[in-house]
Parts: sequence; structure tokens; C-alpha cells
Amino acid sequence: MATQETLYDQLYRLDGQGYGAYKSIKGEYDFGDFGLHIDHVQGDPFAAPSRVRVVVPQPIAAFPQSLWTMPCRAIALADYLTREFYRATRGQAQRSGSGKSGQIDIVRPSQAVLNRSAARVTSEAVELRFTVGLPAFGRRIAGRQAAELLCEAVPELVAKTLVYVALDGAEIQRHVDAVEDAEALRSQLTDHNLVAFVADGAILPRRSGVDEQPLADQAIPFQSPASLRVTLTCPHAGAVTGMGIPQGITLIVGGGYHGKSTLLRAIEAGVYNHIPDDGRHQVVTMPAAVKVRAEDGRSIAGVDISPFIGSLPQGQSTRSFSTPNASGSTSQAANIIEAIEAGATVLLVDEDTSATNFMIRDRRMQALIAKDREPITPFIDKVRQLYTDYGISTVLVMGGSGDYFDVADTVIAMDEFAPRDVTEQAKAIAVEWRTERDREGGAHFGSLTPRIVQPDSIDPSQGRHSVKLRVRDVDQLQLGTEAIDLSAVEQLVEPGQVRAIAAAIVYAQRYRMTLTTPLPDVIEAVMADIEQYGLDSLTEWPMGDLVSFRGLELAAAINRLRTLLTV
Ligand code: ADP
Ligand code: MG
Repeated sequence: MATQETLYDQLYRLDGQGYGAYKSIKGEYDFGDFGLHIDHVQGDPFAAPSRVRVVVPQPIAAFPQSLWTMPCRAIALADYLTREFYRATRGQAQRSGSGKSGQIDIVRPSQAVLNRSAARVTSEAVELRFTVGLPAFGRRIAGRQAAELLCEAVPELVAKTLVYVALDGAEIQRHVDAVEDAEALRSQLTDHNLVAFVADGAILPRRSGVDEQPLADQAIPFQSPASLRVTLTCPHAGAVTGMGIPQGITLIVGGGYHGKSTLLRAIEAGVYNHIPDDGRHQVVTMPAAVKVRAEDGRSIAGVDISPFIGSLPQGQSTRSFSTPNASGSTSQAANIIEAIEAGATVLLVDEDTSATNFMIRDRRMQALIAKDREPITPFIDKVRQLYTDYGISTVLVMGGSGDYFDVADTVIAMDEFAPRDVTEQAKAIAVEWRTERDREGGAHFGSLTPRIVQPDSIDPSQGRHSVKLRVRDVDQLQLGTEAIDLSAVEQLVEPGQVRAIAAAIVYAQRYRMTLTTPLPDVIEAVMADIEQYGLDSLTEWPMGDLVSFRGLELAAAINRLRTLLTV
């Protein structure tokens, strides 16, 4: 096999040649302590950078077996190594040259610990994937710089970040333990009839709307109210006390700016594990909890929203409702029905992002607008049935309407960022001041009919490309000529998740969708394939920029495709 020296010599020989000559370095090189795989060579200095992998055999990387034996530990260790490598690349001196010359990049991890194609730890090896900008001056190969980059800078990074003895063993242990503890906490939720758990001492607020790091100094640590306090046990942290949010319907009430939405957002994030310094590493939520909101303007394809919306003006049916431009209420109804179709077991709703007419209709409005003129059955009349008929719990931030006291099992008041259990008071108030509302929408939630997507209504091609995908951030995905707006899919935390979802849509359309397969079965099959064969099964070549995601978000992306048609 070619070695580090052959690559070095070859790069020197390429110096000054046209950029295209770089193509010849594609291949695998033995660097002694590790293997360097150059999988893809960029066509010019300004194109997407070249993709490389390093594979360090375990005898050299020498990570103690206890750090990677269980899948959750292996993911946590891989996450740690990705962060180390990311930090080290940030420290690199800026190199000269055109385009992305000399730049080494790896996907940027968020606060969540996720399975990423960027790193993998097995009994055989540690593998890391990243990109390099092959150096150029103008459009000429800078061979000496390339040799330095690949044969000196890369080995240095590998020695510094992928070999156990070079790293802080205690920090790695802490990282892996925190993830294993979070998994343990989450696995105890069902036994305790909980949908979420927020540990005492947790730091919930973030630095800003665009910075997910914990608010540093002024944050008030979370402290559970005695009546909702539960103690769970972790393999490493031992007994952990905190607030359990019971199954059923939970209201989070309180004055404006008292921390209601911050609590809900921590619960939303609790479907993921977090790094130990996140402040929310012991906040855990049922894996299939879904934030749903109003999203006016979105398109809807063939969704049965009849549990919430009866016949519309001009006799439009709502059993298979389609529109290129949903209203606030119809979009929220569709978001809920679609989430349930995709397997949601808990709904997370915030009044800040809800349509008022979807959430409530009080006695006075019922008196003014007769039921036969109002197609909407408000959520307040369905939230209970969702639980009794389908076992789906709801956690709802609602500071604006006490009508919900009638249907809540638990009422938590946030008061200066501290939770209080006010369930008894709320129930007493509900008895003393009756809402005098008429219950609407019947005794049951209504039937749920899974849809079948027409595979050929999904077209990832653009011009001469049979597949064209583009992702810049967590809120937008370009599939062929179509842009899918994901800004209302709030539990996506890394662009790599969206990249993986884009690949998964193409994969689903090619291999798993038929004219007789209901969408939930398609999603389940795709997720099972990823579980079994890894994120690499979604792409033709090994990519380093894919991040794990839930079937719920894959479904959400498909549902927002404007060309989507159902059978
Ligand atoms: P609400 O939804 O009740 O109106 P938010 O959750 O939006 O309130 O919180 C209001 C502000 O208070 C936000 O800037 C948030 O970051 C901050 N905040 C929330 N919880 C805490 C806390 N525990 N300690 C300090 N600040 C907090
Ligand atoms: Mg709020």
C-alpha cells in the first residue's frame, strides 16, 4: 500500500500543476500509526473541500474497553473525540492560498450528544471523517503546502485528539458517564408514569436565542416542588432527585417572563442527551415527544384533520385535507395529526407559538358564533381524549387561559423561575368559577388514518443532477428544485441532521415507498435500516457530515414538501 512518504513525494511532484491533477491522490495511505483515506478530491480550490478519513487501530488509539463497549458509550466517546478534533481545528493557523486552501474542518457539534458519521469507535479502530481544502495558489497546486497539511498537520491532529494517552481520561469518563446516566434516567420514565424529568440543580436558560450554551452567572438552578419530586437512580451519579412530569395533561402556567417557555424548551431538548456542562444533561424526556406549533403558510397534503376541523367554507372536506397555504389553526391541527401519525407519544405545546382560535373558544365566543359557523373544535376539547383514546400526553404552556384547568391533571406554576405545584388550587378555582362552556367535538378524539405518499411526488433531481441536496442550517433543506422550510420543526439541533434527513428522503423514495405502504411504515423501515446499517447506508459514499435524527423529523420534512401528493 502507498505510504505517508509516497504521498509526500507525490504532492511535491504535483506542485505547480493544474488543480485537476490533485485527483491522482485519491486512495488509501499507510501512515504507520493510522490509515489515511482520501475519499473525494475537490475539483477546484473553491469547490466543496476534499473528504478524508483517518482510521486509527485500537491497539494504537488504546481507548479502554469500558469507554466503548455499550452503544451509548461508543456514541458518547465518538462525540467527545469529534469535539476535541473540532476544537483543535479551530486553533489552526490560517493558511495562505486561494479558496479553502489548507482548511481542516469537521462538523460542529451542538450541545447534544448525537451519533454522527464524523466519528466511530469500534473494537477494531477509531475512525474520524473531516474535510481538507487542498492548497492552491490561483488554480495551481501548492504541493509543498499540501504535503505539510496532509503529512504533518493531519498526523499532529490525530496524535493530539485520537489517541487515549494524549487526552484527559477523567474528562472523557465524565462525558461518557453523563450520557449513560441520561439514558438510565430516560429509561425509568415509563416505570414512574412520567413523560419527562428535570433534575434539581439543572440550568435551563440559554445564553441567548442564538446561543445554546447555558446562561452562565445569573441562572437560577432548577428546584423541584416537593409534591412532584421523584428520585431516580443512575449508574454513575447515583440517586438524582428532580421534578417528574406525569403522564396525562400538564399545564405550565405563570406570569410572563417567569420561565415557562424555558422549561418547555428544556423538555423539548430532553429527547437528546447532552454534554455534561450543558446544564440540561439530567433533563430527560420520552423519546417520541414532539413540539407542535402553528405554522401558517405551510403546505398540507391529504391529512385527515377532521378531529379538529369540521367542514370548511365552500364544503371543503377535511378528511383528506390539502392546501398550499394553511392558516394558523389548520396548520397546527395538521402538525398534531402528522406527529401522531409518525408515532408521537407526547405533545409539547407553547401558547407563544399556537393559534389562539385553535387552543380555546370561551363561553362568550360560543354564544356569538354558532357551532355550525365555526369549523374548529378547539384543542381544549380534544386534549383529554387524546390521552384517554390514544395514550398521548400533552405538556402545555398556558399563561393566558384558565379554561384549561378543567382538563389538566397537573398544573405547574413558574414563579421567578421556580416551579410550584398549584394543581389543587387550580382545581378549586375550576369548581368555583365554572367556564360555562359547551364541550365540543363529541366524546372521542376521532379516527386516525395513516396516509400513503405517492413516491413520484418526491423529485430530488435538478437539471442534469438526478439528486441535488443542499443544506445550510437546521431550518432549510433544498431537495431538487424544492425548498423545504423546517423552521417550525423545532427539535432539530444540527444541520447534519437535516443533511441526513435529506439523504433519507431520497433513500425512502427509492427503496421503501410504494403505492401501498403507509407513511408510518415507510419511516419505520428507513429508521430500521439506519439502525442496522448505520448512517452510511443513506449515501453512496462514506460522508462525514451526517447526524442521527428521529423518524418524527424525517416525517415532518416529507410532510412539508410542497409537491407531496397522497394516494
Ligand atoms: P415565559 O415563557 O414565562 O414568558 P421565558 O421562559 O421566555 O418566560 O423566560 C424569560 C427570560 O428569563 C428568558 O430570557 C430566559 O432566558 C430567562 N430565564 C428563564 N429561566 C431562567 C432561570 N432559571 N434563571 C435565570 N433566567 C431564566
Ligand atoms: Mg413564553
